[in-house]
Amino acid sequence: MKAPPFQYHRPQTREELGALLARLDNAKILAGGQSLMPMMNLRVIAPDHLIDINRVANLAGIREAVDSIEIGAMTRQADVLASDLVKSRLPLLTRALEHVGHIQTRARGTIGGSCCHLDPSAEQPAMCAALDAEFVVVGPGGRRIIPAGEWFEGLLQSALGEQEFLEAIRFKPWADGHGYGFAEYARRHGDFAIAGAAALLEAGRDGRITHAALLSFGVEAAPKRLSEAERTLIGQHVDSLDIKPVVAAASALDAMEDVHVTADYRRHLAGVLIRRALNEACTTMRRPS
Ligand SMILES: Cc1cc2nc3c(=O)[nH]c(=O)nc-3n(C[C@H](O)[C@H](O)[C@H](O)COP(=O)(O)OP(=O)(O)OC[C@H]3O[C@@H](n4cnc5c(N)ncnc54)[C@H](O)[C@@H]3O)c2cc1C
Repeated sequence: MKAPPFQYHRPQTREELGALLARLDNAKILAGGQSLMPMMNLRVIAPDHLIDINRVANLAGIREAVDSIEIGAMTRQADVLASDLVKSRLPLLTRALEHVGHIQTRARGTIGGSCCHLDPSAEQPAMCAALDAEFVVVGPGGRRIIPAGEWFEGLLQSALGEQEFLEAIRFKPWADGHGYGFAEYARRHGDFAIAGAAALLEAGRDGRITHAALLSFGVEAAPKRLSEAERTLIGQHVDSLDIKPVVAAASALDAMEDVHVTADYRRHLAGVLIRRALNEACTTMRRPS
């Protein structure tokens, strides 16, 4: 099937992009097209206007600031995966990107596109939630920052306004040597995950946990931080963690049911995967000496 007819626009600057978004009704931004075009070809959506942002200057790139790393919305997933800076400062993101689609889809697909599309099983927005990223958004009122905790409004629904576009995603790296773990289950490599999990840990010199992030994704309509379970880890020794409350929290999520699996199976997976992610985070952690 082919997409229904649409008008094509190709702005070169943020200003032109903003003006098009303000002027056009039923318009969609085209980034890598890896989710948008299949949805148009299947006629799930039928925008009258496509605004191709591939030529907008300076929307791609990975920049390091004093205490943050900013990734432009148009940065290709392949470039994020290949980045040594991301690998050393945001290793969880690199680890997760290995599981996103295929070489071909990562070559076109962008981190911003994935975070705007918001498939519940998408790894990149999920890692943004785990890392407490900030979304830098531009609209008629100027620039605003949306914290990850407010970005996810539901199934395929972000907090982005109709006339706004995502400019960049800002990450605050965890301390050097922090532990990170990632686990997901997909039927075939490159498929969207049926469920997944991530864990981040920091500990003091005495081996006691000082900071923890735990996340399940692909289970509910949006990625879910297990905040209470995170609190139970604080103060525990990394070599003898009581992970029962963590597994119990993931196994109690309000899991989705679909043609692939039942809600019960997804909940079971959520428990298994958070345990694996947490174990990996304990293994990858380098203790401060
Ligand atoms: C075969 C295949 C396998 C895949 N497997 C996976 C997988 O395992 N995991 C995974 O996470 N993804 C997977 N994907 C999806 C892929 O990661 C997409 O690249 C991603 O979801 C969308 O990014 P995109 O740049 O292609 O965005 P597009 O498809 O161009 O756009 C997606 C949506 O975001 C909006 N948008 C894009 N950029 C912006 C912006 N800067 N501001 C505002 N709105 C914007 C668009 O209007 C559209 O609504 C797969 C895709 C395919 C085709």
